[in-house]
Amino acid sequence: MTKGPDKALVVLSGGQDSTTCLYWAIDRFGRANVSSITFDYGQKHRIELECARNVAAAAGVPNACLPIDTFAALGGDALTDTSIPVSDEADEETELPVTFVAGRNLIFLTFAAAYAYRHDVRHLVTGVAQTDYSGYPDCRKETMAALQEAITLGMDREFTIHTPLMHRSKKETVELAVQLGALEMLALTHTCYNGRRPPCGDCQACRLRARGFAEAGVRDPLLDIR
Ligand code: ZN
Repeated sequence: MTKGPDKALVVLSGGQDSTTCLYWAIDRFGRANVSSITFDYGQKHRIELECARNVAAAAGVPNACLPIDTFAALGGDALTDTSIPVSDEADEETELPVTFVAGRNLIFLTFAAAYAYRHDVRHLVTGVAQTDYSGYPDCRKETMAALQEAITLGMDREFTIHTPLMHRSKKETVELAVQLGALEMLALTHTCYNGRRPPCGDCQACRLRARGFAEAGVRDPLLDIR
């Protein structure tokens, strides 16, 4: 029996990083072998889901959106809890940003692996990065290595978690998007902490994004939408 082509599943949030990862996967595995998965985890910014759908459609890859309502039920983070404003403040106790959703990437990748298992996919792609970001502990290389081992053991199937942005700065991520021909696609993405499109330009997420583009010497196509 001949082995089929390697297939990849990209965790697509509708943001700049996961969109760049989608194009990385298309470049590496071929468009026909790439699909994407998005999680409706009760995020206040529902626009993310629409962006993910639009990006996948424009890229010509399937997108599955799966519900996980547990994070919003737990509360305590600024992305799902309506009583906590989205900001760049840190939690006094943990010193992690209020936007840290405990366990999010662990759960996302575990569900992505379960989905991949059912669809005969062995490569998972995620936009997590330890450079230039908010210091989320579930974005670290060590976390991803341990998780890869856990899902491989737990499903008795060899999974590989790819993290093309792990050691890239925001500037380098913009450069990668340009190199992959994904720049125009970034007009469809969403980054703003205030949930605005066009972006507010003022919040920390907007400023971080703007800095990456400025350092790369590239105009962000998101700024030209109406
Ligand atoms: Zn903003």
